Parts: sequence; structure tokens; C-alpha cells
Amino acid sequence: MIIVLKKDVTQEQIDHVVEKIRGVGLSVHISRGKERTIIGVIGDESALASIPLEVLPGVESVMPVLKPYKLVSREFKEEGTVIDVDGVRIGGREVQVIAGPCSVENRETLLKTAVEVKKAGARILRGGAFKPRTSPYDFQGLGIEGLKLLKEAKRETGLPIISELMDPRDTDLLCDYVDIIQIGARNMQNFRLLKEVGRINKPVLLKRGLAATIKEFLMSAEYIASQGNKDIILCERGIRTFEPSTRNTLDISAVPVLKEETHLPVFIDPSHAVGKWKLVRPLAMAALAVGADGLMIEVHIDPENALCDGAQSLMPDKFGELMRELRALAPAVGRDI
Ligand code: PEP
Ligand code: MN
Repeated sequence: MIIVLKKDVTQEQIDHVVEKIRGVGLSVHISRGKERTIIGVIGDESALASIPLEVLPGVESVMPVLKPYKLVSREFKEEGTVIDVDGVRIGGREVQVIAGPCSVENRETLLKTAVEVKKAGARILRGGAFKPRTSPYDFQGLGIEGLKLLKEAKRETGLPIISELMDPRDTDLLCDYVDIIQIGARNMQNFRLLKEVGRINKPVLLKRGLAATIKEFLMSAEYIASQGNKDIILCERGIRTFEPSTRNTLDISAVPVLKEETHLPVFIDPSHAVGKWKLVRPLAMAALAVGADGLMIEVHIDPENALCDGAQSLMPDKFGELMRELRALAPAVGRDI
């Protein structure tokens, strides 16, 4: 950490800052320039987390040298994390596709969709049983019934299951039924929930919040990792901007930025990013080209009558076409699919 002192700093103020730093067991290196005096802090700067150095008299600015996220950073672990879900390797050379309906609606729709997405090449089945809806009057999901249907779909197809957890009280229930726990965009900063899934023994797919910076996104992943669970998949799903022509704006640059900052696998959800099925294909292709480790795509056998997100859901035939195109592109960017 580097502490820049004010031009008119007094020796007494410098001594006070130094005393604070030494008080937590760190040492200092003071550099007196013509214009400014700078204090370099030597040692683990996390020891200073609870001391508001910025407000000490004589201090102009404080610049941390280390990233605020540690366990999830590339500095901490150079090689990429690979997560094995029932033999599906996430984060390796193979790009994995998660597909399925926005929410589990009924047995027939789910099973038919599951069979179709498997046929097209999806490796994991998605389906919400607890839905985070903007309106309390919209379909909220089938709850435990939905989880039972997901389990049945897994028995039929062999596809591992991902579903969203919204309430810490449902953690054990979800863990009994699903292979990956999803934390939705709206709960990315629900820190109690993050700590809860940090203590479980299941991979977690963490979606980026609607208005979260990449740093905040990584800090949320750090919450999970700090409790012991290191199997975290990050998912960019579009952020709020001033642009109304798509539901959200897909932050495609988040992928290379995240790949540099963290060893965790990075997915893209083009469906929630754009909100229109026609735009899912180009964004999915872009995601593969830019280095995403996987995709999450909403597929429905009858989007017109879907209870949730029909407008952005692909019909199985369109999903099949997209998978073929992704397969053609993958070798050009050094990936398998
Ligand atoms: C979802 O994937 O079901 C979902 C609700 O997405 P998000 O949290 O990204 O809005
Ligand atoms: Mn949805």
C-alpha cells in the first residue's frame, strides 16, 4: 500500500500515521521527495482493513497495491480452475452449454425440452423452481415440485441440473436436488446467501448483478470462496445501461477482463442479456470468440406460451442450429464444444 501525504503535512502527523501502521504489526518505508512525502507499507495490508487511513490528518490518498479479492484472483492461483460436475468439466478446453427453460412449468414441457437440448449437445439442464420475478403477481415457480421434476429430467437424460437458490432457508433442499446452485443477478450482493453457499459442497454459478462492477462481482465470489467453497462459476448476463434496444447490455469485455483477474471459469448468458431470441445467436458466437468457458441459454418448446421469458427463449430447432454454428467456430478459437 502506498500512502501519499499532503504537501503541508507535519512531522507530528507523519508520526501518527506511522504509529497506526506499526500498531498492526506492519513496517513502513518513508520516501521524502521535493514535493511530497510518501509512505510505503510493507507486509500484509489486509491488517489495515479496519483503519480508515484516508481520514487521518495529513493523508491525501491511499493506494492499495494488492487486489481486494485474494482467493479468487489470478495472483493467488495462476492456473484456471476446472470444476467437475458429474463428469462435465467446466473451465477446461471444452466449452460447456447449459440450456433449458427459464422456469420449470410442468412435467411434459420440462422433459421434452430436456431431451431436445441434450440431443443438440447441451451438457447441463437449467430450470428455475424458485423464480426472482420483478412483480409479485407473476409466476413465482413451482418450488419443490419443480425440483422433483428436474430430478426426474436428470434421471431421463443423465444431464446434471442447475437451479436458483433465493433463500438461505432452502439451501439443504436445493442441495438434495441439484448439481449446481445458481445465485441470480438480483442476489449477487446478498451476502448472507453468499456465505451460506460458501459453506456447501456443491458448485455455485454466480450471476453478475444488474449494476455491479467487475470488482464488486469478484468481491461477491470472494465471499463464497472465503467460506471454503472454491467451486465457483462466474456468469455475465448483461448490465443496465442507457440503451433500451436490448433488455440489458451484454458486457462482452467482462470475459477477457475476468479471465485476466481470476482463475474461475467465466460463462455468458446471452438470453437474459438481450431479452430477444433473435439476438441470442450472435451474442453466443461472440461469447465463444471472446473466450467464455460456457454459455447459459434459455430454450422452450413453446415460447409463445412460456410462463416466463418466452421472448428470449429459443425453440429447440434454433438451439440446434446455434450449437452447430458454435461447433464450427470452436476450433478457430482453440476450444472444443
Ligand atoms: C435466470 O437465469 O433464471 C435468471 C433469473 O437470470 P438473472 O438472475 O441473470 O436475471
Ligand atoms: Mn429467465
